[in-house]
Amino acid sequence: MIISFRCVVALTGAGISVESGIPAFRGSQGLWSKYDPMEFAHIDAFISNPHKVWNVMKEFGAIFDRAKPNPAHKALVELERLGYLNCIITQNVDNLHQDAGSKAVIEYHGSARRLICLSCGKKYRSSEISLNVLPPTCICSGILKPDVVFFGEPIPKDARMEAERQARICDFMLVIGTSAIVAPASYLPIMAKENGATIMEINPEGTSLTRTIVDYSIQESATVVLPNIIKAIQCLKRNPLNCKSLFRPNLTS
Ligand code: NAD
Repeated sequence: MIISFRCVVALTGAGISVESGIPAFRGSQGLWSKYDPMEFAHIDAFISNPHKVWNVMKEFGAIFDRAKPNPAHKALVELERLGYLNCIITQNVDNLHQDAGSKAVIEYHGSARRLICLSCGKKYRSSEISLNVLPPTCICSGILKPDVVFFGEPIPKDARMEAERQARICDFMLVIGTSAIVAPASYLPIMAKENGATIMEINPEGTSLTRTIVDYSIQESATVVLPNIIKAIQCLKRNPLNCKSLFRPNLTS
């Protein structure tokens, strides 16, 4: 299917980075079983006590710094290189798609690799700012915040418009490692479906999309499925008649 569709787009979420060592938000190992999102990930919480939120952000930052792209990120690089992936819309802020080598990446929720000044809007690479004294500040003395979308903040306009455009023009969407709970990102697969796209979900667990708009659900880790997809495509390109053994009948539709 992937090689026959005109425009394939991937929407990724925290699940694709779990095996890189970054916990997802939800689930028993999820970050929100440890921290209350309204206390640490809401913009009002940040503004009222940036020092407290930064202490937790510093802990997340250390996890992000250690993480490396896994075989699922790398498979998406290969899919793009082979010419079968138009772009990735990612809800992740960990930069692992870009670290792996993906070129067309829409950062729907920003990036933890940048900081933004709440007063003047100046942006910094996080590597150039010391976190020895919290909260870090801008040359204008404004408070710096990770350049990620907190609850209560809008999606950056350019990212939102481009993601919606891609959702409308794609004819096949891979929905990978997202619980599809966080809006408005969760509307993107619905938008794609309404515009005629086929939706394939890759997630070990079912989501609200599985029984509603998903055409094909592969309930397995992205690190297993995506490299297998690449293997299958490479085999099909080499010798289309000799690839049957690659396709196991474990696809539910
Ligand atoms: P989520 O935590 O709500 O859901 C994660 C989903 O991934 C779950 O449905 C889970 O079943 C699935 N999953 C777990 N392991 C998987 C694997 N190996 N392969 C495929 N799927 C797997 O995450 P979300 O839907 O992305 O929404 C939460 C928000 O959290 C996002 O906006 C994102 O910005 C933010 N977040 C980002 C990171 C990151 O940058 N790595 C980490 C945590 C949260």
